[in-house]
Amino acid sequence: MITLALSKGRIFDDTLPLLRAANIEVLDNPETSRKLILDTNQPGVRVVLVRASDVPTYVENGGADLGITGRDTLIEHGGQGMYQPLDLQIAKCRISVAVRADFDYERAVKQGSRLRVATKYVAIAREFFAAKGVHVDLIKLYGSMELAPLTGLADAIVDLVSTGNTLKANHLVEVERIMDISSRLVVNQASLKLKQAPIRALIDAFAKAVAERSEI
Ligand code: AMP
Repeated sequence: MITLALSKGRIFDDTLPLLRAANIEVLDNPETSRKLILDTNQPGVRVVLVRASDVPTYVENGGADLGITGRDTLIEHGGQGMYQPLDLQIAKCRISVAVRADFDYERAVKQGSRLRVATKYVAIAREFFAAKGVHVDLIKLYGSMELAPLTGLADAIVDLVSTGNTLKANHLVEVERIMDISSRLVVNQASLKLKQAPIRALIDAFAKAVAERSEI
């Protein structure tokens, strides 16, 4: 049995065409079913639904043979201990610094004042501001980062941005782009040895689908 760990939403939706390219159809719809283990048309392949930030933990510890998760999550978790054979070029976005439209970010950074930064991505934010020589107080949040500057909890946030609509709706502006993000395939190292043929076949089918799509 091959177990693939996915999270609901963007990554699940963007993975379906890749699975189809490998002749795998997921038989349950996670939006309407409460099942966490989803069958596929291939008796030897199943999908488990986990939180995005739990995908690396499942794969690293053998709860799943493979997983798909964002570069952001992998950096925060520490991707060591997993084989990362492919950038799938899905769920693309960027991780950026944003502030209230009326906050003078340039001035705050230039003056060397301590910036209060709210984020789920503490490791990425710490490294980014340290490299710039900016002193920050990091405030760890688990969601709705946009609220932090609006309520006075923080001066800035570090968050994923795709269209920019969420920032705009909350009167925030993107002031720095930290890095581009897309989702990667991760593989448990022991699974790769023990189930080499089916896992290699899956990696190859995904790689072919990604290459064909980038040619369009
Ligand atoms: P947007 O309004 O399109 O800029 O999307 C921003 C919101 O969607 C933020 O709350 C982000 O945390 C979330 N988001 C954007 N892109 C992704 C992604 N690839 N994966 C997960 N969440 C995302």
